[in-house]
Amino acid sequence: MATNKILRLILGDQLNEKHSWFQKPDNAVVYVMMEIRQETDYVKHHVQKVLAFFAAMRAFAEKLREKGHTVIYLRLDDPKNKQTIADNIKQLLKKKQYTRFEYLLPDEHRLDVELRKLAKSLSISWEAVDTEHFLTRREDFKDFFTGKKRYLMESFYRQMRHKHDILMDGDKPQGGRWNFDVENRRRYDGRVPIPKPKLFRNDVSALHKMIEKAGVKTFGTIKPKSLIWPISRSQSLSLLSAFLKNGLKEFGTYQDAMTTESWSLFHARISFALNAKMLHPLEVIEAAIRTWKKQKHSIKIQQIEGFVRQILGWREYMRGIYWTLMPKLGRMNFFSHRAALPAYYWTAETKMRCMQAAIGQSLEHAYAHHIQRLMVTGNFALLAGVHPDQVEEWYLGVYIDAIQWVEMPNTRAMSQWADGGLVATKPYVSSANYINKMSDYCGQCSYDRQKAHEESACPFNCLFWDFFHRHRKKLEKNARIGMMYRTWNRKDPEDQRRILKQAEFYKKDLNRL
Ligand SMILES: Cc1cc2nc3c(=O)[nH]c(=O)nc-3n(C[C@H](O)[C@H](O)[C@H](O)COP(=O)(O)OP(=O)(O)OC[C@H]3O[C@@H](n4cnc5c(N)ncnc54)[C@H](O)[C@@H]3O)c2cc1C
Ligand code: SF4
Repeated sequence: MATNKILRLILGDQLNEKHSWFQKPDNAVVYVMMEIRQETDYVKHHVQKVLAFFAAMRAFAEKLREKGHTVIYLRLDDPKNKQTIADNIKQLLKKKQYTRFEYLLPDEHRLDVELRKLAKSLSISWEAVDTEHFLTRREDFKDFFTGKKRYLMESFYRQMRHKHDILMDGDKPQGGRWNFDVENRRRYDGRVPIPKPKLFRNDVSALHKMIEKAGVKTFGTIKPKSLIWPISRSQSLSLLSAFLKNGLKEFGTYQDAMTTESWSLFHARISFALNAKMLHPLEVIEAAIRTWKKQKHSIKIQQIEGFVRQILGWREYMRGIYWTLMPKLGRMNFFSHRAALPAYYWTAETKMRCMQAAIGQSLEHAYAHHIQRLMVTGNFALLAGVHPDQVEEWYLGVYIDAIQWVEMPNTRAMSQWADGGLVATKPYVSSANYINKMSDYCGQCSYDRQKAHEESACPFNCLFWDFFHRHRKKLEKNARIGMMYRTWNRKDPEDQRRILKQAEFYKKDLNRL
């Protein structure tokens, strides 16, 4: 009988059944997975996020065992669990049969540093192995972005379409255009019914009791007998199928829409499954393209292109930004914003209807779709001058799909413009105009979307002008923003004074809004 020689670490977001490691059981290999306080505590997480990861990890370990692999699974409440990766690995390696340590490359910078340090400190051989998940390697971005002032997603996306031959007719994009973004901006108009989201009913009550007993601090709500998120590859595939059947047809059209009628609209809600690597990005793209090809009469090119762009473009691009800019990205604060994150980010208790809706559903489901994240909660935090560290702590904790490699570039760079415009050519800020155009929120709000001063003025309106006013030096020369200053300059000085006064009043106590 072979003795165990190789210890292989699998992290909680590395649940890729298709990885070459798992194709054949090998008596010389022992896998280790661990639930640890290091990961539950580095930021306060939504309770559904902690439980979804643990439940998916347990299901994955079980699956590996069924296939004949040897797995050591350290539960959070296991007395042998040292609660950090390094301590657990060192403890396991004390058993002398291991002659080699291997781990899958982590996607987070902090873990990358930690694991490399750990591996280098060992007296046995080691190797970091690719996760076989992404469509680009970390190094690819350095080459792609080298010497560029801005890291434009569009040129990256086109290159990816070419490279993977996706939605291409030879050298030309299918449909004659690379990007159908302008057709992806319709408000929800009731023209087609919104599909009921496919929800799972995973019983995680035992896990929930365990984390409560251990004193893990979480926030948000959960029904422990019916966790709605997929925790296995088969559930992930069935969520993807439900989206392809019901959501894809209208995905692009209503991609940016927001409505109190639904928390998920036509979105796929597969980000957790993708980020935990239960789904592969290419299989998602290929399945979507197959569906489109079979139903070209009812699924237009703008729907499929809009969806492909998110995964082939944005997702890979954000990863590239992360690895290109880390670790300095984590410290960026271009506007030197200092305000504290208002308390209603943790409670949804605010009179602003848009914020109530976006935060409320985030606390209830650990989910908000992209435009709610970018143009409601992110927009408000930027206008109000909240410190990016605090904004990021919230985004990293609240969403089911929040893992730093994708959360940080989206939050700090794209949403808070803390990178000073490396990613987005201008800050994503708006007054009530945009929110009203894309949602039904304003009609149900205590504030008046048409006012920028006076008692009931919508906070987004005065804070919007105040933002441009106070950052004039940093923004005025930006060609894409010049128009904004010309509009502001044309305003009556008395009007300007009132708007800024209203903004001051709101900023003095953001918590009252
Ligand atoms: C401030 C902010 C923070 C964000 N934090 C995260 C995060 O922590 N984790 C995360 O996965 N996404 C994050 N996003 C991106 C995006 O909002 C989510 O990926 C999306 O809402 C997930 O829901 P879905 O699966 O229904 O997406 P869909 O709208 O159905 O899109 C399909 C898929 O495209 C990918 N995608 C779409 N947009 C992006 C994007 N901008 N960056 C990366 N991938 C994208 C996702 O994998 C998503 O599952 C953030 C966006 C913003 C503005
Ligand atoms: S009026 Fe202002 S605060 Fe109210 S929902 Fe509209 S944008 Fe939000």
